[in-house]
Amino acid sequence: MDEHILQMAEQAQADRLQQAIDNRVIYQGESATECDSCGDDIPEARRIAVPGCRFCVDCQGLMEVRR
Ligand SMILES: [Zn+2]
Repeated sequence: MDEHILQMAEQAQADRLQQAIDNRVIYQGESATECDSCGDDIPEARRIAVPGCRFCVDCQGLMEVRR
C-alpha cells in the first residue's frame, strides 16, 4: 500500500517535470532571441516572461506609445 502511494507520487513528479520541459520548448520556439526592429539581444528573462515576444524592451515601449 505504502509502496503504491510512493509510485503514484513519483509519477506525478515526473509528469510535472515533463510539463515544465514542454513549456520551455514552446517558449524558446516562439520568442525571438534578437529584437525584430533594432537587432539587440532580448534578455532571456524577458523571453520567458513574455512568451512569443519579438522586440526588445525599448522597441516594445516605443510601439506602445505610438499606438
Ligand atoms: Zn529593439
